[in-house]
Amino acid sequence: MSQPFAEPTTADVAVVGAGIIGVTCALALARQGRRVLVIDRQAPGHGASYGNAGHLATEQVFPIADVSILKRLPAMLMDPMGPLRLDWKYLPRALPWFTRLLLNLRPAPFQRTVAGIRALNEGSLGAWQRLLASVQRPGLLKEDGSLLVFERAASRPALHALQARLRQQQVPVDFWAADAVRQAAPQLSERLQGGLFFPATGHFIDPYKVLTELVAAAKSCGVQFLQHGVLDGRLHDGGVVLNTEQGTIGARQVLLACGAHSAPLVKRLTGKQVPLDTERGYHLMLPAEQHRLPFAVTSLERKFIMTPMEGGLRLAGTVEFAGLDAPPSMARARQLHRLSQGLFSHDLDARGATEWMGFRPSLPDSLPVIDRVAGGKVLLAFGHQHLGLTQAALTAEMVAALASGEAPVSSAYRLARF
Ligand SMILES: Cc1cc2nc3c(=O)[nH]c(=O)nc-3n(C[C@H](O)[C@H](O)[C@H](O)COP(=O)(O)OP(=O)(O)OC[C@H]3O[C@@H](n4cnc5c(N)ncnc54)[C@H](O)[C@@H]3O)c2cc1C
Repeated sequence: MSQPFAEPTTADVAVVGAGIIGVTCALALARQGRRVLVIDRQAPGHGASYGNAGHLATEQVFPIADVSILKRLPAMLMDPMGPLRLDWKYLPRALPWFTRLLLNLRPAPFQRTVAGIRALNEGSLGAWQRLLASVQRPGLLKEDGSLLVFERAASRPALHALQARLRQQQVPVDFWAADAVRQAAPQLSERLQGGLFFPATGHFIDPYKVLTELVAAAKSCGVQFLQHGVLDGRLHDGGVVLNTEQGTIGARQVLLACGAHSAPLVKRLTGKQVPLDTERGYHLMLPAEQHRLPFAVTSLERKFIMTPMEGGLRLAGTVEFAGLDAPPSMARARQLHRLSQGLFSHDLDARGATEWMGFRPSLPDSLPVIDRVAGGKVLLAFGHQHLGLTQAALTAEMVAALASGEAPVSSAYRLARF
């Protein structure tokens, strides 16, 4: 185990960002014997990692957009409360990102994306099992699968087509008829026609609790946490200097894990303008809801997820393109309660409900950057879009292997692809 710092402004690795990616990486790096300092402008875990849906979504091997969405896009964008919202004022800034997204729907890049997501997702459950066992908290993850339900008979062919595509990608999936759904989850409405069950998935009982447990484990390995905003940085022969709101910090290596806010520091330290944007998402937490689902359930038609958590039932989802600066539109969080009506055999209890918005860090090919650049002085782990919680433990193993320079960088996740 490494010793605590005598001098708080120097480290072997300075990790910028204390979200689930930065914290899992910090722990993995400290366990290799490195002196690690984590810097975040907020307390750990108050970015996207705070309020996500907690779904270990290893079944989600396809990017959020595919060619079939293009036909439905205009109607989706015209509905301000629909699952996809674009703030039209933001369109000029988002246009280059959308253009790249569209180019990535062509067959060859689409297949590269699917292969890249799949490689991460296939290793994610095992990596989380190793990580949670190492901190003696296996119970934070419930390996109880998840269910995608449908309610309109007309959706059945689409569901079967999805099942076939998932099987082609070796995703474990079973079709459940209506009575199998009712038997497993009697809380759900009898109107549901059936669904796809994903046995190799699960959910975390509380993503923020997972993060705080990992912070505690990291601290016990000597990792220090500073609450500073990092404003700027520069490389020098011996490593990197970061300018923070409260002075400078030196380190041999820096890991940029700032989620949706990573682009300015990436530009400063690597010279590369990375096309990172954010897909804003919302949750509505229902602490009083007593009928807990046995596993996370997603609605095919209504496009949101309901996850049973320690602190209540969490309804989460929606994608909103409005950038990092616009205030949240919490009506979208409240809309999740209206969307739940009709999916359950009873109305969900919304007393004491809390609303939240978070910034998914998204690159236009739906793959993260996990890389080592600038002669090994700069490590990168950001852009995990809808799957940052799922892929965090594996990302940390990859970053730890990259830090020493022993492991090759996987071409799928290189910064240089942009
Ligand atoms: C509604 C919603 C539901 C989701 N559901 C799921 C799910 O079920 N499963 C799943 O796998 N994923 C899910 N996700 C995605 C997941 O939450 C993200 O991919 C993941 O949290 C990203 O983690 P991160 O550590 O990269 O970013 P963050 O958690 O955002 O952390 C980045 C940190 O960097 C800090 N930072 C940024 N810039 C600076 C700076 N200059 N100086 C200092 N600090 C800085 C920020 O303060 C922040 O704490 C969901 C996301 C949303 C919004």
